[in-house]
Amino acid sequence: MRSCVKVKLPIQASIPEIRVFGRWFYAKLEANAVLEALKRYDVHVKVDWGWVLGIGGDQTIWNPGLWQLKELNTILQAVEDFAAAAGSVEATQKAIGGAIFERVGQGTTAHWGLGRITIADYTFAQSGLRTWLGPKIAIVHELAHYWDWKTGNVWSKALNHSGHIVQNLPHEIGPTFWGRTNPAETWAEDVAGFVYPGYFAILKAEGKPKENFVVQLQYGPVVIPLRMPGLGPQHSSYTARQFQALRVGE
Ligand SMILES: [Zn+2]
Repeated sequence: MRSCVKVKLPIQASIPEIRVFGRWFYAKLEANAVLEALKRYDVHVKVDWGWVLGIGGDQTIWNPGLWQLKELNTILQAVEDFAAAAGSVEATQKAIGGAIFERVGQGTTAHWGLGRITIADYTFAQSGLRTWLGPKIAIVHELAHYWDWKTGNVWSKALNHSGHIVQNLPHEIGPTFWGRTNPAETWAEDVAGFVYPGYFAILKAEGKPKENFVVQLQYGPVVIPLRMPGLGPQHSSYTARQFQALRVGE
């Protein structure tokens, strides 16, 4: 019996190798499928994986890059959630077409102008209530900055300032603590909360005092208490109007 086991061992040992190879192969196919699905919206990913020439240039080595397959899927899900709010592929292209996502390890998650959006480790490494929705909220937030940037005039584009989609809504405060930093952040947080109302539920559950309080909104003679965080009536309708405007001419 022992000798029989010995004969079988190399075959048994080779099975995990086949499985690992298979997983890698299908991961590559799936990554390509995700990139193709994103291209429908004119949204792109800077590919950082692939075969590269090793030192000396006489053999190729596999460079795995920073992107994980599940992260690429998260980008696609966020873009599809944005598209659901925009109402069509064409409307989505109008707002965020041309976006290019680049994975950076220790860097910053941000939109840098011209649609270049970097996503850093910390965005994908969220925990607790933010594990599932946190990365997508951040992705949609950056897409909102790009959408804003796209609407800017020549000067604001040249200077990389915010475009003209942002607006101060004088009788309401921004939806989150970060969204009260400046009008551009108000807009990005408005869009993130509009696409993901669960964002506000998370902030409520986390219970930080800077996010959770009641504000008395004055509309002429009417006072409406608004429990923060959340989109006030003006922020909500302003954001909805920008999404609706994308569909004009379709
Ligand atoms: Zn921002």
